[in-house]
Amino acid sequence: TADTTHLSRAALHFLARKPALKDVATRLGPFRRLASRFIAGESMEEALDAVKALGAKGLMASFDHLNEAVQTPEETRAEVREYQRLLHRIDAVGVRANVSLKLTQCGLLFDEALALENARTVVAEAAARDSFVRIDMEDSSVTQVTLDIVRQLRAEFGEPHVGAVLQSALRRTEQDAEDLCAQRIRIRLCKGAYLEKPDVAFPDKRDVDASFIRSMRVLLDSGVYHGIATHDERMIEATLDHATRRGLPRGAFEFQMLYGIRRDLQERLVREGHPVRIYVPYGRHWYPYFMRRLAERPANLGFLLRNLVRG
Ligand code: FAD
Repeated sequence: TADTTHLSRAALHFLARKPALKDVATRLGPFRRLASRFIAGESMEEALDAVKALGAKGLMASFDHLNEAVQTPEETRAEVREYQRLLHRIDAVGVRANVSLKLTQCGLLFDEALALENARTVVAEAAARDSFVRIDMEDSSVTQVTLDIVRQLRAEFGEPHVGAVLQSALRRTEQDAEDLCAQRIRIRLCKGAYLEKPDVAFPDKRDVDASFIRSMRVLLDSGVYHGIATHDERMIEATLDHATRRGLPRGAFEFQMLYGIRRDLQERLVREGHPVRIYVPYGRHWYPYFMRRLAERPANLGFLLRNLVRG
């Protein structure tokens, strides 16, 4: 029922913030096995192999080095170096891929100026290689500052090199979509993976979906190249319908999905001639990302629990 779903989601989001559980869980076999469905490996080279395999199927990628809520300047600098090396490897190997970056990975939780500076260094590297950095969206406490930083970087580096993410769960998103499109900022539209309060977000999934469709239409009507990020076939149908009504050619926007989710749908859209990009997370700090994937779909939790019981 909707209530038990809400409860298990809340429980998972709660557990996601427990470092002790993280230490135990990341060592447990069943946990690691289920996680490996969603995470392309702990090393950059493993992720590159995964992206080559996706490329062979006609799928593009966006790499994400997993880490968030980073607490020290030194660790943020290590993240910047990882992304510089990643952009270099993408070029050297010649895969069709860009990168996704979180501002809390760059120090946003303790030093906004440092986060901007770190993100700027990564976007500069991407721009020099004619690549692109998607600034992921995190919980609603950082929405405004994240969009402010994307606007700043967009002004410095130009439309093709940096873009934002909007979450249809948030009440503000339709307005943000209008504003960012007016500034020709590329947007990834998703539903939103964080647990939010009803004053900022729609509690009812039907409202999240309706908001997705309204914002999707704003994006498609803007003439800017955006990403429609969902595995929901109804959202995808609505997007294709709107594109047809507007006479948009294939390639006017891209679909985006997460590594390991609905591979059948990923491949079907490619076969139908649509650009599809897969979000490919890798690295050692996979616990919070993995917990958000579990919280999205309680069935994943059942699978995990059955495996834990069996040992
Ligand atoms: P849902 O209605 O949740 O799911 C539709 C169907 O998709 C389900 O019925 C199921 O078949 C499948 N599915 C969805 N999730 C799972 C899962 N975990 N396991 C198995 N099957 C599943 N969120 C943010 O808050 N910030 C971001 O920056 C961000 N970036 C994203 C980038 C990409 C490319 C994508 C695809 C998602 C991103 N998300 C981000 C996550 C997003 O907000 C949603 O939480 C997630 O995509 C699930 O929503 P859905 O649109 O697939 O629809």
